[in-house]
Amino acid sequence: MPGRRLVSCPQCGAPVAWEPESRYRPFCSERCRMIDLGAWASESYRVPVADEAAEADDSPQEKAS
Ligand SMILES: [Zn+2]
Repeated sequence: MPGRRLVSCPQCGAPVAWEPESRYRPFCSERCRMIDLGAWASESYRVPVADEAAEADDSPQEKAS
């Protein structure tokens, strides 16, 4: 079928059809997508959002008192 593209799932390497039906492209499945997102999140963003909020809360208090 001309125009039909196949990509490899970045997580497991399985062929994935690049089309609207492939909801999780370029991943083959939701599972592979979540694994990749989880790895990215834990490597790049070790600090949770809650910590940033706590920091922002602390700074003004320190300066005020
Ligand atoms: Zn996969």
